Amino acid sequence: MDEHLQVGTLNILMNAAEALRKNGFETEVFADGASAVAYILKLIGLGKTVGIGGTMSVVELGLAERLVAARNEIVTHQPGMGPEERRRVFRQAQAADFYIASPQAVTRDGKMIFVDGFGNRVSAISYGPGRVILLAGRNKLVRDIDEGLWRMRNIAALANNIRLKKNNPCVKAGLCVDCSSPERICNVVTMLWKKPRGTEYSVVLVNEELGY
Ligand code: SF4
Repeated sequence: MDEHLQVGTLNILMNAAEALRKNGFETEVFADGASAVAYILKLIGLGKTVGIGGTMSVVELGLAERLVAARNEIVTHQPGMGPEERRRVFRQAQAADFYIASPQAVTRDGKMIFVDGFGNRVSAISYGPGRVILLAGRNKLVRDIDEGLWRMRNIAALANNIRLKKNNPCVKAGLCVDCSSPERICNVVTMLWKKPRGTEYSVVLVNEELGY
């Protein structure tokens, strides 16, 4: 990215961080993914349980592998798990010491939007884990809730449908058509407007593109 745009996006992230703090979310901004990973590793420490909701940002940063190397136990569902095992893993993740997820959008006034197929991830980010870590690259920044919901459906969900090899109509249409497909992955939307009272948060904003 052009160095001037880079400075501009960093300033926007700093302003969004200030808005997030006003809404009760502890927030840090990092110039790159490597510094964000170092911060998260220090925050979690050693020997903890860490639930991870499906997040390409975590995959791109190799964060799970680094956490395992620090003797942490990762709790996350895997493709091919049956309903019973998946349910057990979802519940374990919701009771973990830490839970890591990525919002589909972060508004400039400090709100976050998440969408889910099962609802496990949007449950865990609201209540349950000891601390929720929310990781977002600069590509998640939007002007407001309306733009965030548009982004959630037409960028994030679209890319996830392709990644998960779902045969949903958005894949060919190139946009969300609010389908009734049995494989629909966008069933529950959660917005964090202010910090929920029973949960502690660390929001990690990164001046790099991460995930969808
Ligand atoms: S609601 Fe259906 S069409 Fe829209 S993004 Fe989700 S899966 Fe695709």
